[in-house]
Amino acid sequence: MSPAGSCVFCKIAAGEIPATVVKRADGMLAFKDLSPQAPTHLLVIPTTHVSSLNDAKDAGTLGKLLAFARDIAQETGIATKGYRVVLNTNPDGGQTVFHLHLHVLGGRPMHWPPG
Ligand code: 5GP
Ligand code: ZN
Repeated sequence: MSPAGSCVFCKIAAGEIPATVVKRADGMLAFKDLSPQAPTHLLVIPTTHVSSLNDAKDAGTLGKLLAFARDIAQETGIATKGYRVVLNTNPDGGQTVFHLHLHVLGGRPMHWPPG
């Protein structure tokens, strides 16, 4: 897994790579996905490097991350109609960036089951 020094999301958190930041607070950051899969597609990360859910030892950080995603859904206006929060873990889970992140997707109906 990526060490923090070469991690693209750590670089976004540090302002070393540009991103469209939607909210930053309390050690969490929300920014627009580069390749949006829905009208609203945000990524929510802890600004401190954690590689994946498997490596997330601090339940407090996980709770804050989820609450931050919920708040951003409300603040971007997708909460009432509905939205999806996705957390891909490791290759079979579809994880491609090894810095813990939630996808917040909304603005269109979602389908189930996922691919
Ligand atoms: P994963 O597949 O790991 O769950 O999701 C990684 C997400 O990060 C993908 O949806 C991809 O489009 C997004 N992504 C990858 N590199 C960048 C980047 O440099 N900037 C932004 N804003 N999103 C990125
Ligand atoms: Zn990182």
